Amino acid sequence: MKNPYPYTEDNKRYQTWNYYTKSHYGTRLYKVPLEAGFTCPNRDGTVGTGGCIFCRGGSNSFPELSGSDIYRQYLERRKVFQHKWPEGRPMAYFQSYSNTYDTLDKLKELYQPFLNDPEIVGLVIATRSDCLSDEAIEYLQSLTSIKDIWLEIGLQSIHDKTLKEMNRGHDYRNFLQAVEKLENTDIKISVHIINGWPTETEEMMIETAKAVGKMPIQAIKIHMLHVLKDTPLARLYENDRFPLLSKQQYTDLVARQLTYLNPEIVIERITGDGLPDQLIEPLWTVKKISVINDIDKAMVRDNTWQGMNYNHNHP
Ligand code: SF4
Repeated sequence: MKNPYPYTEDNKRYQTWNYYTKSHYGTRLYKVPLEAGFTCPNRDGTVGTGGCIFCRGGSNSFPELSGSDIYRQYLERRKVFQHKWPEGRPMAYFQSYSNTYDTLDKLKELYQPFLNDPEIVGLVIATRSDCLSDEAIEYLQSLTSIKDIWLEIGLQSIHDKTLKEMNRGHDYRNFLQAVEKLENTDIKISVHIINGWPTETEEMMIETAKAVGKMPIQAIKIHMLHVLKDTPLARLYENDRFPLLSKQQYTDLVARQLTYLNPEIVIERITGDGLPDQLIEPLWTVKKISVINDIDKAMVRDNTWQGMNYNHNHP
């Protein structure tokens, strides 16, 4: 069967990160993950103390790092990627906690060494929508003339009831306000969503995909809910074995969600990386390749593709 999806070289029915980076940069881009000593307002008491109930959090293992410490960490961690993809190019990935949650001076100190390194294509900065002040956005926009700047922003769901149950510490409106502020900048946005929250129906998860699919963003990461050890969610799960999606429910759902997304955006992830030693359930997520294959098969079976049902003007 002919694949109608145009942005692929390997017959995928959605746009992968590899396709995107090869077509935009002529090579693979890899993200070198960094722990830059940030914390999170949903943990330090500013908006909450317990964190999102699925988050393992824990203590910050690198408090009070300077820009040069982070750069050394980057050089060390980059070696693994250089070995694996010698032809690829790096991005500095500020991954742990909320990486815009500090003073502007501190952000400048931590980001600066990466702006000075000509090999680095861009900075990928994971954060929350309530950690993006006007002055931080203005600063990040000023950096876009030097490097690509990506923000990875957690949304998880468009449903406020779910966000409350997750103890996210912000609502959907707060997320939309951040996206609105970023819309006319050159900063690129990647949004995280989580499927399988036990009080959500499949239609609610589709609604999240439909809404995110129409936002002015460049990428999405889709995850299954993981019950990880030592989290409030794990304690809830011990007391009340709430239902989790089966592999087939998840893969069919993601295949459907992809049809509602803007066909131009990048699907950075369609399943998460639950570390087997931390994961309680669902154990099928450990076999990541098999999950990805099942999503591909569901799309071929139903002859669907990313953006097939996308209509920017429809509710
Ligand atoms: S915002 Fe991120 S770091 Fe903070 S508690 Fe939630 S998942 Fe954890």
